[in-house]
Amino acid sequence: MSIAHGVTTTHLVVDEPSRVVEDDTLAISARVRIRADGAPRPTPVVGDTQRLIVRVHDVGQFDPDALAALRVADPEDLTPLLPVLALMACRLDADLAIDAATCPVATSGVVAATAQYAAWWGWHGVGVQVRRDAAPQPASGGRGLFFTRGLDSASVLVAASTAGHPPTHLVGLDWVDAPYDIADHGDVWRATAAAAAESGLPLVRVTTNARTFTDPLISWDFSHAPVLAATALALGGVVDCVGIASTHPAGHPVPFASHPDVDPLWSSATVRIEHRLDVPGGRTARAGVVAGDPWAARWLAVCWEQSGEGNCGRCRKCLATMCSLWLVGADEVIANRFAGSLSPSAIESLAESVPLGGRGITASVARELAAVGDGDTLDGLSVRTSVTERRMARALGEAWRVVLDGTAAGR
Ligand SMILES: [Zn+2]
Repeated sequence: MSIAHGVTTTHLVVDEPSRVVEDDTLAISARVRIRADGAPRPTPVVGDTQRLIVRVHDVGQFDPDALAALRVADPEDLTPLLPVLALMACRLDADLAIDAATCPVATSGVVAATAQYAAWWGWHGVGVQVRRDAAPQPASGGRGLFFTRGLDSASVLVAASTAGHPPTHLVGLDWVDAPYDIADHGDVWRATAAAAAESGLPLVRVTTNARTFTDPLISWDFSHAPVLAATALALGGVVDCVGIASTHPAGHPVPFASHPDVDPLWSSATVRIEHRLDVPGGRTARAGVVAGDPWAARWLAVCWEQSGEGNCGRCRKCLATMCSLWLVGADEVIANRFAGSLSPSAIESLAESVPLGGRGITASVARELAAVGDGDTLDGLSVRTSVTERRMARALGEAWRVVLDGTAAGR
C-alpha cells in the first residue's frame, strides 16, 4: 500500500518488525531510522535505542479466544506503532517507509490525521509506503477505556457506568520506560490497580517507550493521544474499541492532541479509537461527577509534579482541580486527596512557577470560576490571548479573594 501525500526526500524508515508473546507480555516493536536524501541521519531519541516498542502485560488474564488472537496475529503487523510513527514523521518533515505490514484502515487514517495537523499547525502531512496490508483480527465484543484516575477519565467511567454501558476493560499506561521511569512511579501504578480492583473491572497494563522518540520532537500535550492510541491498537482481539476521555468540554474542540475529529482517525479495522465526551461540561462539571462517586473521589489522581502517589496541592493542575472541586462544594475531597490547601495566595504563587507565556489550565479555571465570580472580568481573561498564564495566575488569585469573601457567608 502506498499513499503519497507530502513532497519530501526525508523518510522515517521502519523495518525489522517483531511481534512476540513472552513472559506473559505481548511486545510489538520495530527499528526506526531517518534517511534524508538517501543517506542516514541521526534519529533524535532519549538514550540510544533504535527500536520503538509497545507492550501489553499480563496477557494470561485474557480469555482463551483473546489470548489466541494475540498469539497467532501476523508477526510483521506493525499497525500499533503507526500513530507514533506518524507523529514523528510530521515533526521531522518525513514520509513513512515501512518494510512490514499495517492495517489499511489505520494507514489511511494516519495520513488523514497528519493532514489535519498540517492544516492546524503547518506540520508535514505524511505520506506512507508499506510493503503489504495486514489482515484484521477477530472481533471480541470488548470495550476499553483509558483510565488515569484524573477528572476526565474518572468522570467518563462514572457517567458511562451510570448510563448502563460501562467498559469491559480499563486500560492503564504504566511509565516504566525512559524518560519517565522514575523510582517511585510503581506506587502510582499500584494505586491504579487497587482502584480498578475495587471497581470490579479488569485493568489492562500497557507500556511503551514512545516518549523516548516523541519527547525530543514535541511535548506530551501534543503527543498523548497518538501514544495512547498506539497502545490501544495493540489490544486487537481483546477489545473492539478503546475510549480516550476528552480533555476539552463539548463545543470547545480547539486544535489539540486529543480532538473529536482526529482521535477516531487513529483507528484500525480491529480497534476503534473513540473520543469520549460522556460528561460534556468542563472540569467543574467533571469534578461534580467525580465528587459524587465515593470510589472515584477516593482514588482521584491529577498531579504530575509530585513524585509517587498523591496530589501535591500546589501545582497548577492540582490547584485547578481543587478550584473545580471547591466550586461543586467538594471540600472533603480537597482535604482528603490534596497535600496543599486552596487559597488565593496559593493560586497567586503559580505566577512564579508556570511557564512564561504559557496559558493552559489556568485559562480553563478562569472560565469556570467566571460562573460564580465576576463573570465578565474572568471570562475576558480566559479568552484574551495576550494574557500570559503568569499574569492570569495573579489575576485569578485576586479574583478568588473576591469570590471567597463574597460567598464565605453562604458556604
Ligand atoms: Zn500537584
